[in-house]
Amino acid sequence: MKFNFIDYIKNLYKENKGYYSVYEGIIFVNSLSDVPEKTDKKIYIVGVKNRAKWVVFKCPDGCGRRVEVNLMKTRYPKWEMTIKKKKVSLYPSVIVNGCKTHFWLDNSTVLIAKEDIFDNEYL
Ligand SMILES: [Zn+2]
Repeated sequence: MKFNFIDYIKNLYKENKGYYSVYEGIIFVNSLSDVPEKTDKKIYIVGVKNRAKWVVFKCPDGCGRRVEVNLMKTRYPKWEMTIKKKKVSLYPSVIVNGCKTHFWLDNSTVLIAKEDIFDNEYL
């Protein structure tokens, strides 16, 4: 049987209830304070599509932290966001301050990064 990486990741998450493997839907808001306390599976984008300031979503490991990823060039660290068919990708990978969860967001899908890859910045 051919090894399917995406199926592998999905199965991994099925065994870890509380983890999010895929975010569903994006919501544009005007400011960070417009993002609700509970974001559930939604990804919130602060600003307009081509001049977005923040991407906000729930930490994929289920720890309850809110991940706020900066997209503004005037702040550091910053990430690049692309949206295709209402799915969000971020570059580079993200490490969440506190729980240290390290992942890539690819087409609104969480891919846990290998711990020895550190080409990214802490939030
Ligand atoms: Zn976390």
